[in-house]
Amino acid sequence: MQEIYLDNAASTPCDARVMEVMAPLFAEEFANPHSDTHAPGKRAAEAVEQARAHVAALIDADPREIIFTSGATEANNLAIKGAVRFRNRMGDGRRRVITVATEHKCVLESVRDLAQEGFEPVILGVDPNGQVDPAALREALAVPTALVSIMAANNETGVKQDLPALGRMVREAGALLHSDLAQAAGKMAIDVQALGLDLASVSAHKMYGPKGVGALFVRRRPRVRLEPLFSGGGQERGLRSGTLPSTLIAGFGEAARIARSEWQADDRHLAILADSLFHGLQERQTAFVINAREAPRLPGIISLRLPGAQAARVMEALPDMALSMGSACSSADLAPSYVLTAMGLSATEAAESLRLSPGRFTTPADIMRVADLLATAAQRVRAAGSTQ
Ligand SMILES: *Cc1c(COP(=O)(O)O)cnc(C)c1O
Repeated sequence: MQEIYLDNAASTPCDARVMEVMAPLFAEEFANPHSDTHAPGKRAAEAVEQARAHVAALIDADPREIIFTSGATEANNLAIKGAVRFRNRMGDGRRRVITVATEHKCVLESVRDLAQEGFEPVILGVDPNGQVDPAALREALAVPTALVSIMAANNETGVKQDLPALGRMVREAGALLHSDLAQAAGKMAIDVQALGLDLASVSAHKMYGPKGVGALFVRRRPRVRLEPLFSGGGQERGLRSGTLPSTLIAGFGEAARIARSEWQADDRHLAILADSLFHGLQERQTAFVINAREAPRLPGIISLRLPGAQAARVMEALPDMALSMGSACSSADLAPSYVLTAMGLSATEAAESLRLSPGRFTTPADIMRVADLLATAAQRVRAAGSTQ
């Protein structure tokens, strides 16, 4: 049986065009991009700067506003801890840091780390569609706030937040606005200027680039200041010391270049696949619920509940299908997804939910097979459950 990969929200394959750009940098153009005393070093630096321009263009930033990191986890840590600690060190008295219950663990844990340092975290809840209530944000902002972090699109449900509206409130309150764009960048229109973002995190391996590289957008005007997480050689404007992985960065740049010109085609492709999956399940009389159905969502992340069928059992019945129950980081533990329970799903309902995330390379034929296999597995698991 051929495997079907439906876990692009956890990581995407590298696009062949990305690998083509990276290949020569592994063995031929391998020089340290910070070695400016020789030509090979300068060429590596050029490759990095070209990639920086592509990543910047994808989110309508200036290349000087892009700081390369090891991924979105590091970018989120650097943004949240770096900005809040810097403000505090400058004597700014604002201690409140606001985020949302459905954020990625690395955002929630960064905020929790700041609480250890005496800052005051506020974790906003979401409605049954996974969205932040603007009134709740307004209320939280009544206390002077250092930073607000709200993701653009969720990694378990695909739910998009109303960043333009929420961001306006944050700006009016004078707080810094950070957004985790790991799932959104390269999948929807993102303009950091129009959104008024101060800080934004992206990751290459969620947009058909390599794992181990990402970036933080840091606004220049007005300038956002950060305290670095690492001490070292002062690369990346002193904000991120360490030799840049020029090979991975070149791949990231190519992935960003492709995404900028192809994200709308990808989006249409994924919307058609999602529709045909839902139709396929309906045709096979398989009862299902789309979590956060009413919210604007990325078409490539489907949180699907099969009432009466535990997701763990369904996955056991589908060994050739790469699926997950929630995010990759938390799928090892059997606790129900905190993202889904924050939306009001019961623990049982959350445990009946699967995440299916097709991608650029998923075919209509794959989806027909998924509908078939999923319908059969759901029926089998339901039948086994009812006889217990
Ligand atoms: C994958 C992901 C991250 C972590 O990104 P890495 O580059 O793997 O560190 C952070 N936030 C969201 C929303 C993600 O989907």
